[in-house]
Amino acid sequence: RAKEDGKGTYVVYDKSMHTAFNERMNIEKHLRSAMNNNEFELYYQPQVDIQSGLISGFEALIRWNSPTLGFVSPLSFIKIAEDSRLIIYIGEWVLRESCIFMKGIQDRMGIPYKISVNISIIQLLQDDFVEMVQESLAESGLKPSCLELEITESIFMESFESIVNKLQFLKSQGIRIALDDFGTGYSSLSYLQQLPISTLKMDKTFIDSLSEKAYSQSFVQTIIQLGHNMGLEVVAEGVEEISQLDFLRKSGCDKVQGYLVSRPVPKQEVVELLEPQKRYGI
Ligand code: C2E
Ligand code: MG
Ligand code: MG
Ligand code: MG
Repeated sequence: RAKEDGKGTYVVYDKSMHTAFNERMNIEKHLRSAMNNNEFELYYQPQVDIQSGLISGFEALIRWNSPTLGFVSPLSFIKIAEDSRLIIYIGEWVLRESCIFMKGIQDRMGIPYKISVNISIIQLLQDDFVEMVQESLAESGLKPSCLELEITESIFMESFESIVNKLQFLKSQGIRIALDDFGTGYSSLSYLQQLPISTLKMDKTFIDSLSEKAYSQSFVQTIIQLGHNMGLEVVAEGVEEISQLDFLRKSGCDKVQGYLVSRPVPKQEVVELLEPQKRYGI
């Protein structure tokens, strides 16, 4: 559009920059009061064991319903929360709330379901991060083996050594570490080897490509093999179709998460998903 009219170019460009900046500022402003106003909520998306078809755990996903802005996607506010460091408080709330909630579900159902929680690099860089995780477990009574922390390849960019040490310690306590969105970041395989992780979460883009590109099937199988060779559990993200599930099962993938099984649901609806004997996808 800018090219159509030389005169307008500057104004149009300037305006959109201005708007984007204002929008960020606006989100940040409302984000500041969102914690105290209880505007956040956690949704839970089940993870299913492919072999048994049973739910093995859930991923906690934050939702923000702002009275002024309406529903804001985490895809737009997490980055702003990171840049403003508000993620430290938000993330702590997410972890505590997730642990308490899952302990309640475990007690109610008598099954040790796992909970996976997304952790930002900014949180990992905090000196008291390890302590905070231990406190969340202690106050909730959740077993370390039922907690999985999801990190992304962005951790390769900063203070790698110190972060690896923290993850190593947490893992030695029995806490699981998952590498989220695997395959979309910049990490090399040599870094991957140094990371103390328990789970690979294969990104949705690989699952999406399964039906489109001929080589993508062998790509997915190679990732699964790589994970298994490293002693890791492999989870497929964003599974929407039965054909994808069939292929993943045939290829030995351990778990699936995606709309095919269920969208993320509010906490009130979690128990309904856990009706005894209910099997998904098989
Ligand atoms: P993620 O951790 O990779 O989470 C998976 C995202 O994929 C979620 O989006 C989920 O709703 C969506 N999803 C799951 N299955 C399907 C499917 O079959 N099809 C499609 N199209 N999407 C599916 P959501 O909840 O919007 O979260 C987006 C991202 O925001 C997350 O990606 C994560 O990086 C971040 N996020 C969410 N909650 C938190 C949080 O509590 N803390 C931090 N630090 N980040 C969070
Ligand atoms: Mg995640
Ligand atoms: Mg992911
Ligand atoms: Mg993602």
